[in-house]
Amino acid sequence: MNALAWLEPLRSSVPELDTDAWAALERFDTALDEFHRASPVPEDAAARSSWLLGLRHDLASAGHRAPSGPGRPMWQTLAQFLAGARDLDLRDCTGAGHGAMVLTHAPAAVASAWEQRLLAGDLIGIAATERRGGSRIREITTQARLSNGGQWRLTGEKCWVSRLTEAAAFVTFIRDPDGRISAVLVGADDPRLERDVIEPSGLGGWGWGVLRLHDLPINPAEALLGTPGSGLEIFHQHFARFRPLVTATALGTAAGIHGLVADILAARRDAGLPRIRDNALITLGRTHAEITAALLTTLTTSRLAAAGHPQAGLLARLGKAAGVDTAARAISDLAPLIGAAGYRRSHPIAKARADLTGLLYADGIHDSLYRSGGISLLGSPAKNRPSRLASVACTRA
Ligand SMILES: Cc1cc2nc3c(=O)[nH]c(=O)nc-3n(C[C@H](O)[C@H](O)[C@H](O)COP(=O)(O)OP(=O)(O)OC[C@H]3O[C@@H](n4cnc5c(N)ncnc54)[C@H](O)[C@@H]3O)c2cc1C
Repeated sequence: MNALAWLEPLRSSVPELDTDAWAALERFDTALDEFHRASPVPEDAAARSSWLLGLRHDLASAGHRAPSGPGRPMWQTLAQFLAGARDLDLRDCTGAGHGAMVLTHAPAAVASAWEQRLLAGDLIGIAATERRGGSRIREITTQARLSNGGQWRLTGEKCWVSRLTEAAAFVTFIRDPDGRISAVLVGADDPRLERDVIEPSGLGGWGWGVLRLHDLPINPAEALLGTPGSGLEIFHQHFARFRPLVTATALGTAAGIHGLVADILAARRDAGLPRIRDNALITLGRTHAEITAALLTTLTTSRLAAAGHPQAGLLARLGKAAGVDTAARAISDLAPLIGAAGYRRSHPIAKARADLTGLLYADGIHDSLYRSGGISLLGSPAKNRPSRLASVACTRA
């Protein structure tokens, strides 16, 4: 079952996409097949990184992009699923990605210049995490100090940053000169930006590691996103839209492995295996249902995030954790069905497992996301609001 076949039965759940938009997804799917055939081996990190960036540019120049209007987030979510079905490393092969923060919050002239660059395939990274812990963004210490002519000078260190060597700029979360958390755009070619590349155990497609800012000058009139002190708001609004895209990519990867395992089992049956055991059939059926259900939830979350629904952030946090967990569990359950062959380092199953492990941390570590969701679901303490438990007690009395 190829990746598009997973989407076909979901058409009626995505009324925002018309026939042209579905045809564009089909063309995108075909292009992915062609390009992916030429992918360098994952072990060759340098070749792989430049191939991925080249792929992004090639897809952009061939016009593979989401339509404008309400179909945009739906198309992008499904495109991420199709990309993930080939390889989780393709998670940034189309779309604005983290550049969406620039398009939404940068001054108009800066946003418009970046729109052209992103449309042409350039990539923007995000630098938020620090040594004190990525799950505590409120505690960041990267500091901007006021300098001559109203410039800001940035000093600090960001860690575990993805797209480290490929991004043309980074949306960087800092403390502004008044100590508030703000988001600024930092050009990647500034000589005061230092990078330390670290070898990851999965998700090795893009460069990954440490980004140091050494008294790096920026002009806040151009580089500041939103207003001073709006960093947290920008972060949360962005991740409400971005996390469903990450989730769809992970689910695509699980669907890709599902298809591969199903093909191998079908080939064994056709080659004369007396029967496919029930445990294999049950796993195929259950994981198909789980991946489909999670994808439908993800589409809903993308839709709500684009509409600015007040619950979108909550659904995106919980949906990312639960959706990526679903994908990781599906691959874990499917892997043994084809035996040791899938344990070879070069096998797509081995790669998918290692890559998905990275997504358990990237874009929000899962215990933190679930915990933060739990806090939201509990609501804030309301001393004056009669509790439901109290009213139940009164009724019984
Ligand atoms: C492949 C990959 C790509 C990434 N890409 C980027 C990127 O592009 N840009 C970027 O900025 N970051 C990136 N990250 C970092 C990622 O966002 C962080 O790993 C994530 O936010 C968790 O932060 P942390 O690793 O520092 O863990 P921590 O925040 O240190 O959390 C580790 C554990 O400690 C727990 N914990 C936190 N506080 C407490 C407490 N008070 N008591 C007890 N336990 C606690 C957490 O819940 C968690 O279980 C990436 C990470 C990976 C693995």
